[in-house]
Amino acid sequence: MGYDVIIAGASFAGLAVASRLRGKVLLLEPHAIGEHQTSACAIPLSVAEKLGLMDSVLRVLRRLVIHARSSKMVVDLSAHPYCTVDYKKFCCGMAAGVRAEVLRAHVLGRERNRVATTRGSFEGEILVDASGWRAVLAGRKGTRVSRRKFLSFGIETVAAKAGDKLGFWSDLGILFRGFAWDFPIDTGSRIGLASYVDDHRLRGPLEIFLARWGLARGEIHGGYFTSALRAPIEQDLFLVGDAAGQCLPLTGEGIRPAIYFGQACGAVIQRILNGELTLEAGREVYESFVLRHQRLYRALRFAQSLGVKLPPRFTSFLLALACTGPSLSYILPRYMALADTNNLHAARGSELQGKVHRSRGRAASC
Ligand SMILES: Cc1cc2nc3c(=O)[nH]c(=O)nc-3n(C[C@H](O)[C@H](O)[C@H](O)COP(=O)(O)OP(=O)(O)OC[C@H]3O[C@@H](n4cnc5c(N)ncnc54)[C@H](O)[C@@H]3O)c2cc1C
Repeated sequence: MGYDVIIAGASFAGLAVASRLRGKVLLLEPHAIGEHQTSACAIPLSVAEKLGLMDSVLRVLRRLVIHARSSKMVVDLSAHPYCTVDYKKFCCGMAAGVRAEVLRAHVLGRERNRVATTRGSFEGEILVDASGWRAVLAGRKGTRVSRRKFLSFGIETVAAKAGDKLGFWSDLGILFRGFAWDFPIDTGSRIGLASYVDDHRLRGPLEIFLARWGLARGEIHGGYFTSALRAPIEQDLFLVGDAAGQCLPLTGEGIRPAIYFGQACGAVIQRILNGELTLEAGREVYESFVLRHQRLYRALRFAQSLGVKLPPRFTSFLLALACTGPSLSYILPRYMALADTNNLHAARGSELQGKVHRSRGRAASC
């Protein structure tokens, strides 16, 4: 069966690509949409606003507290508030604006334009890999991102802890070369730990961290996220989100870039389908768009590598320096402009409104 576009993965990146398409599109995803949460889902409030998904917001957070070795810095985020969102509601909101067939299947691989899945194989004129760090269509072998030092690993749990600020810990004494977080939601907090160097032994440290507040570990979720860009076009394939290493190094913020680059990728592909661009020109447009952001990714990657290499007291000193008024007023707007939410389009965009996706297979959709 032939499709204009086949997208592997229907989370933030895959849904963002699909939201800009009007052709014959197939979305391949092993889980029901919004069912497989791996992330703490803290995003700039402007993402939820621009996408028109405010109903998924659980808590708005206007202050960030960074805990370093011997200091605590409070950052006023009122100019760039963040929020935590309900993953299922958010993804279902995105899916409501998508006009595509959704098939609940694992992608196994591809041969040229034919994608093999657990539910048969399908041919697409254009293929998009939005399958997260695994990059199931592109593969990771031989790439920079296949190396452990370019992958971070995190886990989190939900605990009954009240709060109204985003909390980050750069040095717990129990976990070096990573960070911890506390992101309040409506009914408690998402509390987790991440290692910049692919260290999986995080359950014990998470328990110690939770014990500070007398809390016990509940159900855990998590996984890998990337910390270095890889080529967004590989041979004839478009890569987006974590599959393209677009998660921001240092902070591990990957949802905003996945949606930002995903919508841009979808818009370029639609221009190819419209005949406004050749496939080759479209690939070049998307590639150069992504690579325009490379310098800032490198800067964040450099800051992350300092966090890995330097002793914690130096990291604390640098963090304190970064949080002073003049440094912060330089850094924060640039960080926010990296995947500028002003460029985002409503999830249920007017040109697509009412064209709700159809699904094949059980429980593929919301
Ligand atoms: C513990 C943790 C906490 C995090 N917290 C935050 C946070 O608070 N804020 C933030 O911005 N970022 C956070 N991140 C990073 C963020 O989750 C990722 O950067 C983001 O999810 C990337 O989106 P994506 O759509 O590219 O990939 P993913 O969200 O990973 O989605 C990939 C999709 O592909 C599907 N897939 C996988 N294999 C196959 C296959 N074989 N065939 C078909 N489909 C497949 C998956 O089921 C999934 O739906 C966190 C990450 C972790 C691990």
